[in-house]
Amino acid sequence: MSTYKIAVLPGDGIGPEVTKEAVKVLHALAKIDASFEFEVEELNWNSQYYLDHGRMMPENGLEVLKEYDSILFGAIGDERVPDQISIWDLIMPIRKNFQQYVNFRPVKLLKGLASPLRKEDPIDFVIIRENGEGEYSNIGGTMFHGESREMAVQNTIMTRQGVTQITEFAYRYAREHDLTKVTNATKSNAIIHAMKFWDQIVEEVAEANSDIAYERYYIDALAAYFVQRPESFQVVLASNLFGDILSDLGSAIVGGLGVAPSGNINPSREFPSMFEAVHGSAPDIAGKGIANPIAQIWSAALMLEHLGRRDLHDKILQAIEELLVEKKHLTPDIGGSATTEEVGSAIAEKLLG
Ligand code: ATP
Repeated sequence: MSTYKIAVLPGDGIGPEVTKEAVKVLHALAKIDASFEFEVEELNWNSQYYLDHGRMMPENGLEVLKEYDSILFGAIGDERVPDQISIWDLIMPIRKNFQQYVNFRPVKLLKGLASPLRKEDPIDFVIIRENGEGEYSNIGGTMFHGESREMAVQNTIMTRQGVTQITEFAYRYAREHDLTKVTNATKSNAIIHAMKFWDQIVEEVAEANSDIAYERYYIDALAAYFVQRPESFQVVLASNLFGDILSDLGSAIVGGLGVAPSGNINPSREFPSMFEAVHGSAPDIAGKGIANPIAQIWSAALMLEHLGRRDLHDKILQAIEELLVEKKHLTPDIGGSATTEEVGSAIAEKLLG
């Protein structure tokens, strides 16, 4: 029997409410399949922890996390702690030290949900965003504060290794899922050094995988195509900034934040990967018991796929879709009046049969 050791970081706001339901679903799965079990440990490293201890996680936090097979992360953000601290002292150290250089976001219109685009064709693709370098580097600076010549510089970092490994991941993902096309999001006509370099390396990898079709669009045109013909994409490969923006556009066309999952993946598996809903701590609805747990439950499903259990991922997704089609247990964000707990329990019950 396999034992998956999962660290759960519920975080702030609705994080604890939705991770509780995701854990409920994991335990339901373990009940119906004797081939594995979960060892789940909750680590309350959140904004309250910061207020109590002056840091977002213990000094040996990364050492502790390293011992787990995977991390299920809720959401972080609390008005009592500046975002800069909660993000840069907790999320970023995990992503960077654990070399989670892939940010993985499915853009799939689940059965039972309506897209604001009112499209007939299924929308089902993934965005693979470079998660460790690119435009989101902290190399740069400002000069001449308060003077008319005041200036700011922020550097984009593209490395051969970074671009190669994210592109190889995209092609590997396409191959493993029988997909036939990779789309490169670029802007090499205007960002003539960094994005040209990006394109050059992406295309080296594309050439080595020439049985899979390759296309390249400038990011502005691609944003329009996401709205006009989202059904034409399978795997969209993007730099850190472009992927960030496209991901939110992607989640908007398939049902919104309540149903948008993501993974921060370390493909070498040297370190644990981290799975989290795209949404934040949603302070406006925290404590009301109405947050949609589907994004978090789907993120747990992505975690299982990464752990090698695509069958379990598919089971969870099927249960979610059944629930959405029935429309009996939906939270207010997608037109129902159910509570977070009712949705989690309904999905768990579907799995239990
Ligand atoms: P943060 O800075 O932590 O990202 P935010 O408020 O800017 O916080 P979100 O927390 O993602 O962003 O919330 C944006 C909006 O979406 C809020 O109105 C929130 O209530 C809603 N929302 C987010 N997640 C969910 C969810 N799981 N279920 C229902 N509504 C949600």
